[in-house]
Amino acid sequence: MKKNIFLKKKKEKKIASERIEYLLELGKKTLKSEPKRAQRYAEIANKIKQKFKIRPKREQKRLICKSCKKLIVPGVNCRVRIKGKTITYYCFECRHFTRLGYKHKND
Ligand SMILES: [Zn+2]
Repeated sequence: MKKNIFLKKKKEKKIASERIEYLLELGKKTLKSEPKRAQRYAEIANKIKQKFKIRPKREQKRLICKSCKKLIVPGVNCRVRIKGKTITYYCFECRHFTRLGYKHKND
């Protein structure tokens, strides 16, 4: 019985993370034409993430501003600068800098 619950949770998590991926993908596509709708997608994705305690993937982390939790897409509402080994994301929504380290593939 215990095993079943565990399996169910695992399955739920998988579905939830797929849903997040889908929502963020949709958000990316609609951000330019319909920013309000895109931000709503990001909001829902964030809620699912919290509910199921899902750790976002690297690519997903970059899409959400750490400060205002809004969807940020380079060239639309955020600016990306690379300096040494850090990438700086400047969010136009809240004027917050997010710094992320990155690794070279050959490192
Ligand atoms: Zn922001």
